[in-house]
Amino acid sequence: MRSQVRRRVMAGNWKMYKTQAETRDFFPVFLPLILDATHCDVVIAPPFTSIAAAVQATEGSRVAIAGQNNHWQKEGAFTGEVSSQMLVAVGCTYVIVGHSERRQYSGETDGMVAQKSRAALECGLTPIVCLGENFTERETGRTQEILSQQFIGGPGSLTPEEFSRILLAYEPVWAIGTGRTATPDIAAAAHRFLRQCVQDQFSAEAAASVRILYGGSVKPDNSQGLMAQQELDGALVGGASLDAKSFAAIVNCK
Ligand code: PEP
Repeated sequence: MRSQVRRRVMAGNWKMYKTQAETRDFFPVFLPLILDATHCDVVIAPPFTSIAAAVQATEGSRVAIAGQNNHWQKEGAFTGEVSSQMLVAVGCTYVIVGHSERRQYSGETDGMVAQKSRAALECGLTPIVCLGENFTERETGRTQEILSQQFIGGPGSLTPEEFSRILLAYEPVWAIGTGRTATPDIAAAAHRFLRQCVQDQFSAEAAASVRILYGGSVKPDNSQGLMAQQELDGALVGGASLDAKSFAAIVNCK
């Protein structure tokens, strides 16, 4: 059995999928399927244009809504960007920060991850801070070096108080959207290493209490094995969160 000390979080990242109409269709199917899932927090991150529809559709439910990105400034001349304050105003309570697709396609750096995390925390959002190595880095034995570097430059540079309010997501890039999931043992080893980084930078208490989600091709048929690992405090799910029944099956796994 998994330790109950750290409450599990199951988060869906819809990426650039689902219009407002598709968002409105999703929740009446999804919500009844997760009524018994009181063992975990449930979060969905729709694209910006569907956030309002998702907030409306989940009102009165246990599902929280997240942004997929935020800017570190409150407002300004930043075409195409959305601030943390704007996310709060539309009803978000979480935000994904440092997703590997943003690092890869939008040049997001560890320093930006730290700035965005701070901006989110300042207005009460819970950042889900992603880190993970790519295929070459794993194959050449650099996983720990990369995780350590991303940690120190990003969430590890927050104050202890700020750090106590974030979630981490270990997302090996080689497993995202590829159908190649890390085995439960590989995922648990990376989580243990990250917890050690937290202990070295902050404290044993911070390491014991930070929740670390796993992300990378989590599906209904592999979620049970992953969630059985004590080290995994939940999942960040991309593709499989787009289908209400698939995501509900993952949320409901105990
Ligand atoms: C993600 O987008 O964070 C993710 C893990 O995607 P997928 O589940 O599709 O690999």
